[in-house]
Amino acid sequence: MSLEEYKGVYIYAQQVDNRLGRIAFELLGKARELAADLDTDVTAVLIGSGIRHLADELGEYGADRVIVVDHPSLKEYMTEPYTHALAEVIRTYKPEIMLVGATAIGRDLGPRVSARTATGLTADCTKLEIGDFPLNPVAGREQKHNQLLMTRPAFGGNTIATIACPNHRPQMATVRPGVMQAMERKAGKRAEVVEYDPGFEANHNYVEILDIVKKVSEAADIMDAKILVSGGRGVGCPENFQMLEELAAALGGQISCSRAVVDAGWMPKDLQVGQTGRTVRPNVYVAVGISGAIQHVAGMEESDIIIAINKDETAPIFEVADYGIVGDWKKIVPDLTKKILSVKKEG
Ligand SMILES: Cc1cc2nc3c(=O)[nH]c(=O)nc-3n(C[C@H](O)[C@H](O)[C@H](O)COP(=O)(O)OP(=O)(O)OC[C@H]3O[C@@H](n4cnc5c(N)ncnc54)[C@H](O)[C@@H]3O)c2cc1C
Repeated sequence: MSLEEYKGVYIYAQQVDNRLGRIAFELLGKARELAADLDTDVTAVLIGSGIRHLADELGEYGADRVIVVDHPSLKEYMTEPYTHALAEVIRTYKPEIMLVGATAIGRDLGPRVSARTATGLTADCTKLEIGDFPLNPVAGREQKHNQLLMTRPAFGGNTIATIACPNHRPQMATVRPGVMQAMERKAGKRAEVVEYDPGFEANHNYVEILDIVKKVSEAADIMDAKILVSGGRGVGCPENFQMLEELAAALGGQISCSRAVVDAGWMPKDLQVGQTGRTVRPNVYVAVGISGAIQHVAGMEESDIIIAINKDETAPIFEVADYGIVGDWKKIVPDLTKKILSVKKEG
């Protein structure tokens, strides 16, 4: 493999039902930064059926070029034809970096494509940057420059590892939704569009979809919330979440929770914040009865303002909090709700 042949930062632009997911724009935002450091351009790979028109949107969010693979057999996501399509794009166009969202689809697609193109993949990255590898020079070992340094929690979140892929291309990473930030949309900015046909055979479609059952969630996505009131095990029981709901309603926000709450069956998994839940960035995050384990903090530390309520003044949540209230939430939360409602009434 001649590494020099591989150029450009590519992202997989995930679409479902011919609508681009927010993850595509988030990956484009990060790809633009990496491309600036490498002095190269950004390409989005769009795979599906009847999806050509989505290329314009990708241009407005930062793609210089969009490679479109449009074929009737790609109408619904299926492992084999999508893997074939993306792997062939990589073989033909030779990207230096390939980013995929760590969504349900991306977690299926990314590793298969990396295996098929004989390269490595770092899953669930929380930070991506260009730098030297090894990070510090080691006597007798070549230090390579302009490598993709992929950082992610390791060993159950107890440490942070920075991983590189110095001898194979592309350097592949998956990134969870909500971790990277999309650029502002530039209306009218167009990308060059390239249509590519990797050729499909019957064997690329050996699974037949008989029925698609879509889950309809009643709760709004916590990743879109501007204000979150999040409860932990310290809330005590599912009934007590009513008081958190009331505070969230007074603030015009939503509720979310820690994994301990989900594991106890008090709240659905959709509301879990953290390493194995959602990554959120609200304007205000109120952590109630949450200790602040590293795996929880990983999912909320980018919030603009963090307010922690905990009866234990040594709880690690206070290390990331902008405001901390030490005491029993059962007293503090209703008082806060009352105060906010009375201020709203006066104002
Ligand atoms: C691989 C892996 C992935 C994980 N992923 C996640 C994840 O995505 N999200 C996540 O949240 N966790 C995750 N965890 C679990 C994480 O390590 C913690 O166990 C979990 O976050 C603890 O939840 P908690 O803070 O609600 O509960 P606890 O740690 O039990 O904390 C409860 C807190 O409530 C306080 N409290 C109790 N009563 C009151 C009261 N009356 N008033 C005020 N404060 C009170 C206590 O002082 C305590 O600090 C993961 C763990 C592993 C190993």
